[in-house]
Amino acid sequence: MFEAIPGNYLVPFDGSFRHKKSLTAPPNDAPGKKKNKERLAELVEELDELQRILYANNQYALLLVFQAMDAAGKDSTIRAVMSGVNPAGCQVYSFKQPTPEELDHDFLWRTTKCLPERGRIGIFNRSYYEEVLVVRVHPEFLRAQRLPSQPKLDQLWQERFESIRDYEKHLAKNGTVIIKFWLNVSLEEQRQRFLDRIEEPEKNWKFAPADVTERRYWDEYMKAFEDALNATSRSWAPWYAIPADSKAYMRFCVAEIIVDSLKKLGLSYPKIGPEEKAKFKAMRKILEEENQAK
Ligand code: ATP
Ligand code: MG
Repeated sequence: MFEAIPGNYLVPFDGSFRHKKSLTAPPNDAPGKKKNKERLAELVEELDELQRILYANNQYALLLVFQAMDAAGKDSTIRAVMSGVNPAGCQVYSFKQPTPEELDHDFLWRTTKCLPERGRIGIFNRSYYEEVLVVRVHPEFLRAQRLPSQPKLDQLWQERFESIRDYEKHLAKNGTVIIKFWLNVSLEEQRQRFLDRIEEPEKNWKFAPADVTERRYWDEYMKAFEDALNATSRSWAPWYAIPADSKAYMRFCVAEIIVDSLKKLGLSYPKIGPEEKAKFKAMRKILEEENQAK
């Protein structure tokens, strides 16, 4: 089973993660914007090659989960990091408020349908984690889910964490490499980005007034993220809490973790055996003779 690569932003597996101690800005010794862009460009090339090898092996699938507060930069990070990968080799799904059909199923149903196939990279822009984040902050959403048993809320979140852990372990055992990113933006940086969306005409379309009112629940969201990350960061499905106030640094960190994780699988292009080699030799002969016959 896949095992997480260590790193500064890896959320420990023992429940000791504290959001207040987790960085929203790059550390002081981090390289500047230009350097981060250069490093990202190199990683994007490497990722393209690694995806080809993943596809040629046809054994593992890679699932990348992105969760964040609004305006943290999920979309642009996905775009930047995946910009070099063959579009046929990756699938992006965004999960919004559930539809009536989705509400008629258990909370893991809608994402299960979108899991990546072997050899491919699947990206979840939001995911089943919304069920222990936004739904936890707004438990009134549970009414629409019409659950037959209504345990006390604290118990319900614990049950959901257990379901998620079991689910991810099952996927990991069956060849899905799961890497999860929390893009950790600060309250102040979010305020600036919302102001930019109001000020700059090309960004107006991104502005949703409801996002501003949702800021009132910031502390509740932070608590929900902390609990969810502690309950579900495991070696086979690690969370990384990435500082999100600098987009260039964030994109580089995300790309580096993906590339290093794929490298750790130790895959290479499949080699052919002696029988196939002999067949290849015969085929080469046919092709060469065809040319001579002209
Ligand atoms: P963008 O704003 O960049 O388009 P987004 O992911 O914020 O991207 P929105 O349509 O603005 O997309 O928001 C989707 C909303 O759906 C979020 O507020 C999210 O919390 C909510 N959501 C997602 N899954 C669930 C769920 N299972 N139950 C309730 N709300 C959910
Ligand atoms: Mg939004």
